Amino acid sequence: MLGWEDARLLKDVLPAKEAAKITKAFGYATVSELLMHFPRAYSHHGSAVSIENAAEGDQVTLIGTVMSGGTIRTKTGKKLTKVRIYYGMGEVEATFFNSWLAEKQLVTGTNVMVSGKVKYFRGVAELSQPAFIVLPQPGEKPKRGVGKLRDLSAFASVEELEELLSELDYIPIYPARKGYTAWGMMGAIKFLLDNTPEIAEPLDTIPAGLPSFDAALRAIHFPEEPGPEQAIERIKYNEALGLALVMALRHADTAAQQAPACPAADDGVRVDFLGQLPFPLTAGQQEVVGDISADLAESHPMQRLLQGEVGSGKTVVALIAMLQAIDAGRQCAMLAPTEVLAVQHARGLTEMLSAAGLPTSVVVLTGSMSTARKRQALLDIISGQADIVIGTHALIQDSVEFFDLGLVVVDEQHRFGVEQRDQLRGKGREGITPHLLVMTATPIPRTIALTSFADLAVSTLRELPRGRQEIQTSVVPEFKPDWVARAWERIREEVAAGRQAFVVCPRIEGEGGVEETFALLSQQVFPELGVAKLHGRMSGEEKDTVMADFAAGGSDILVATTVIEVGINVPNATVMYIREAQNFGVSQLHQLRGRVGRGEHKSLCLLHTTMEPSTPSYERLVAVAATTDGFELAELDLRTRQEGDVLGTAQSGTRKQVKLLSLIYDTELIQQATVDAEALVARNRPLAERLVKGIEGQDYLEKS
Ligand code: ADP
Ligand code: MG
Repeated sequence: MLGWEDARLLKDVLPAKEAAKITKAFGYATVSELLMHFPRAYSHHGSAVSIENAAEGDQVTLIGTVMSGGTIRTKTGKKLTKVRIYYGMGEVEATFFNSWLAEKQLVTGTNVMVSGKVKYFRGVAELSQPAFIVLPQPGEKPKRGVGKLRDLSAFASVEELEELLSELDYIPIYPARKGYTAWGMMGAIKFLLDNTPEIAEPLDTIPAGLPSFDAALRAIHFPEEPGPEQAIERIKYNEALGLALVMALRHADTAAQQAPACPAADDGVRVDFLGQLPFPLTAGQQEVVGDISADLAESHPMQRLLQGEVGSGKTVVALIAMLQAIDAGRQCAMLAPTEVLAVQHARGLTEMLSAAGLPTSVVVLTGSMSTARKRQALLDIISGQADIVIGTHALIQDSVEFFDLGLVVVDEQHRFGVEQRDQLRGKGREGITPHLLVMTATPIPRTIALTSFADLAVSTLRELPRGRQEIQTSVVPEFKPDWVARAWERIREEVAAGRQAFVVCPRIEGEGGVEETFALLSQQVFPELGVAKLHGRMSGEEKDTVMADFAAGGSDILVATTVIEVGINVPNATVMYIREAQNFGVSQLHQLRGRVGRGEHKSLCLLHTTMEPSTPSYERLVAVAATTDGFELAELDLRTRQEGDVLGTAQSGTRKQVKLLSLIYDTELIQQATVDAEALVARNRPLAERLVKGIEGQDYLEKS
């Protein structure tokens, strides 16, 4: 971790048999890997350790006191010992068959550490045949040389372990796995720490107010009074600093690159366009346009993130930026996550430009275009004919070469990774890095902005253009059939009033899928209305046709998958019905909901669900229905997702980079680390580079 590695092999340091068991159960091979296996809890003089969150089948370890117990003989003649163990938060029942040791040792009043698989029987947690060791009362000697202490004695003399167990203020409780007990782990880690000389501080100074790394690593495993908090803080700080250094280095790198300076021209397409805008810009838009304009005039690359609620009008801001680059003789590329959106953008921008009578040329490039059209597009791009190129991932391919790329716009940033936007930026002229504007409607919580986007300046559009309508959201539970019927009725009413509706399904085939829903609605529920369908398995051309037809009012109801999630703009659509909404994440629901409420009419979002009230999924939908504030929802999203997901797949396995840091709760630490990282890169760049060796950048928002 962060400048420290102990590559000694476990099998060379630990007794070979124990090393083999640990490697088999956890996959750890080196000393530092095992020392980074942190306790998941501590028992402080026998106090509470919770198993409340353990699911059926989880391996748990806990420390408690035997409350009652006894041994009976079953009909088949086996001896069955049952004991109830109180662990502070509740009770667990442990059962043993023919265990002489359990019968003899687990008498009422005994303090014990047990480890086994949880089963729930009538709501009571049970451990069947758990492994256990009897603990001494604080200050007392443990029972001599019996029971599972033998597990520990692989690492040290029994006397030493007796000492250890009776003297520890905090007994570390490790995440156990089948094949290795929590106390075996304790013995192994103790042994390693005893055989590791003092670790030199990997940073050039010990961070203010925190212990040295060496002290922290020892104390997180075997804390003394007043407890492990400071040690945990220090390890978390290291994790935060690692992420922050990746960002700070990236920032320093781009700042040093050469970009095409594109100062705003006094005349040209930008000024012409601004003179003929179809609507006045909101104050927020004006401010962002100004910031971007100043950035583009510089000869180092703009790195800007524009976040703004769905419908806040980011596209026109991007267009104005692109026109500035075009006036300076450069080309612009706009990356969109779906073909539908790319085509819609191309159509929208072309309309705006030709309405203003401007000669600017817009070219589309998507994967499903015919070879002939693609060849023509590529030709326009390389010859410089094309001013604005809009496309999907197809834009990133090697065959795409620009004449002179000056600005890259990435729409719906959360669908792309850092590598992808960097690949597109690599298409500038030799030695030139194009300016970058990334846009997102998924608000980014502050900690995430710091850890994942610290290399970007952030602009935020908070207000929606005037005339936008509130969206009212309701949950429609499947178990109330009349609510479902009422929901269809509402769609009928909206259509009768001249409006249109989206019906989104979580899948294409099968129950509740697009095909089934399309059949249901077109044949049974709304035989008299125009129902269309749209999904990812249709060809690009089919999708275009259906979408264009719906946008033009040619159909009333569009049954679709989430292909319509991002960016689709049909102001006349006023109802969004989401089937089995529990299948979608909070941000995704918010995005989907943003497809309505884009015109002058009041809009409605219906979250259908097959879940029962008071389940977490149902409550999540209720929370989404309760607010349209994207920032609030982004926080909710972060809380309801596993942090593992948040950080993406790079985080799985034994090489996890962030084990303790919480992106939700450790805001201050992350902020501090961000400041320190910038300073460290400026002060000692070679050290910063050495520290992050092996740490990859974080991509917060999952790509799909
Ligand atoms: P998003 O930020 O979600 O990408 P869009 O850029 O698609 O939003 O804008 C949504 C709609 O609002 C578009 O039809 C756009 O023309 C319109 N719009 C943008 N800015 C304004 C404005 N200042 N006043 C009125 N309408 C606007
Ligand atoms: Mg958009």
